Amino acid sequence: MQMPADVDGITADLKVPGKRPRVFVNTDRPERRRRFTLAHEYGHIRIPWHMGTIVDVADQEEGDSGNTGYWRMEEEANRFASELLLPRIWLRELCETASAAAVHRAASERAEVSRAATAIALVEAAPPGWLYARIVDGEVRATRKSAGTITDKIPWGMRVTDVELPPGAVKTALSDYDCTHVWWQVEEEQPVPSRSTEREWRDLLDELLSVSGLQRDDQKQLAKRINGVLSAANSGLLTAEARTPQRLYAALITRFRQADLGAAFEAVKEHPLLQEFILARMQVFLSK
Ligand SMILES: [Zn+2]
Repeated sequence: MQMPADVDGITADLKVPGKRPRVFVNTDRPERRRRFTLAHEYGHIRIPWHMGTIVDVADQEEGDSGNTGYWRMEEEANRFASELLLPRIWLRELCETASAAAVHRAASERAEVSRAATAIALVEAAPPGWLYARIVDGEVRATRKSAGTITDKIPWGMRVTDVELPPGAVKTALSDYDCTHVWWQVEEEQPVPSRSTEREWRDLLDELLSVSGLQRDDQKQLAKRINGVLSAANSGLLTAEARTPQRLYAALITRFRQADLGAAFEAVKEHPLLQEFILARMQVFLSK
């Protein structure tokens, strides 16, 4: 059978009574790609609601066809293939053994799956604090982070040399034929300083805002936004497995550093009472 150049594989006669499904794989593709395609086609066979004949077109952007049912099936078959070839439970164990790029390389070799597909699986299995970017010509082209990671994803389109992460972040990289896979592992626990007063957070915030030089109404706006940032950081951690004070403190100051609170915030940012206010707010979060 002549396979069109843009087709990776085809599965025919899915769930047709009296017929066995037939799978065709484009043999012009590299071995690892054929391997993933085969696992993908097997997914179409195993997933009960994938019916008829499904043609897998390579490198088509999702949404091109407007056929959402098709793309849902493609996504499901890809997930099936990824879990089959790179079991997450195995990847999670590997993550404990070496740096991100070394784990990435080892998993890709052992599973005989492309480095690109391995990266996607690895982000899902990694512990909190793993950030990933696919770099093409020095620019971030795809960007992901593991579940529970507080730090923002690396911005799309950024020069990789401009990426700034908290001190102590470990960066490792793995080259590929058309890109570089870069990993950052961020330690997201921070030692919690001890409090120097017993003052309540509202009181501390009022004093902070009074040095901001803002009008009363603008002070109220800024207070709302500050509280919004801290509440978002706190609720982001409510479902995390390990909600320790060190982790919550890291989340609060990381979010604060990343938030855009406008020029007025600059005045209070360096104020010594800010840390005291964050600690007071954290005490309330932890008591709930
Ligand atoms: Zn498919």
